[in-house]
Amino acid sequence: MIPREVVVVAEHVAGELSDITLEMLTCAREVAFPLGWHVTCLILVDDPKPFQALPLASDRTLIVTDAPLGSFNPAAYTRVLLHLLKDLSPRLVLLGNTSVGMDLAGTLSLGLGAPVVSGCTRIRGEGERLSFTSKLCGGKLLARTDVGDGLAIALVMPGSYNRELGMVDRVPPVEIRASPVSLEALPVRFLELVEPKTEDVDITKVPILVGAGRGIQSRENLKAVEDLAEALGGAVCATRPVVDQRWLPRTRQVGRSGMTVKPRLYLALGVSGAPEHVEGMKGSDLIVAVNTDPDAPIFETAHYGTTVDVLELLPFLTERIRASRGR
Ligand SMILES: Cc1cc2nc3c(=O)[nH]c(=O)nc-3n(C[C@H](O)[C@H](O)[C@H](O)COP(=O)(O)OP(=O)(O)OC[C@H]3O[C@@H](n4cnc5c(N)ncnc54)[C@H](O)[C@@H]3O)c2cc1C
Repeated sequence: MIPREVVVVAEHVAGELSDITLEMLTCAREVAFPLGWHVTCLILVDDPKPFQALPLASDRTLIVTDAPLGSFNPAAYTRVLLHLLKDLSPRLVLLGNTSVGMDLAGTLSLGLGAPVVSGCTRIRGEGERLSFTSKLCGGKLLARTDVGDGLAIALVMPGSYNRELGMVDRVPPVEIRASPVSLEALPVRFLELVEPKTEDVDITKVPILVGAGRGIQSRENLKAVEDLAEALGGAVCATRPVVDQRWLPRTRQVGRSGMTVKPRLYLALGVSGAPEHVEGMKGSDLIVAVNTDPDAPIFETAHYGTTVDVLELLPFLTERIRASRGR
């Protein structure tokens, strides 16, 4: 019997696989291994060179090449994917719960007649059926979904799987094919990759970050957060609502639509821990959270946490740190 297949649709930028691709490979392995299924990592690119010797945790790497696949183009991707996926006939297709995955999921669902499960944080095979756990409403609700035994498309939430396990110590068999469909006369054209400007502090390079969330309650209270960051020798960053209210510039925003940071210490102050924020800071070496709500999702990510009122804690903590540093 031909084993069933899980296809991971890789995301890449400037010749490098994105973290979500490695996380999806970890997820695919977790589903496929107990069931004896195969994992294919599908990479759509113009130039296969940067990808053909990667030790990915798949049973094979299938690279499909054509000039318009060099950078993400939803029209080119869907044309190729619809053709290939009909041919491969997998049981499960994994996309990132990212702007790329969201761009593709609807058209693939329609073209393949397959349901889409979004926000997946865990996927398990139970016999021939798959069970999906998804985070909804900014991580406050968990949903379990069973989609029957046909093809399913799942959007994997960044930060849900260990990216390190997406690489192994051997290179799987690699197959390189030209695009099976013409990519001429596409309705969408890729123009250029625009990197965000970092005129302000580059928070991706600062080893100690104090993250301010809506729990700090007002712009006036930012001064106390800045004092703490200064005492620690670090910088202040923030969640999106804080930036949206213009308490801090956009360059300080951490998360899906902001920056990804990996400092030695990340202090999350009045931050709920929504998946979109956690995605940008989960790689920090040490995460300490202060949140009055003991059920706040940030405590699932933090190494240490306290439920004290951040506004009461701030002056006390700053003073103690200054005293310990002789300032
Ligand atoms: C497509 C998309 C992209 C997004 N991108 C981002 C992104 O890049 N970055 C980002 O951050 N968000 C992003 N978001 C928004 C995200 O979903 C959350 O809404 C946001 O992260 C919540 O910010 P918060 O934790 O500051 O606020 P809230 O969710 O309001 O949480 C405030 C927390 O403070 C706690 N609190 C209140 N008072 C105190 C106190 N006195 N002491 C201690 N704790 C207190 C509360 O218990 C609460 O948990 C995105 C959303 C979408 C849909």
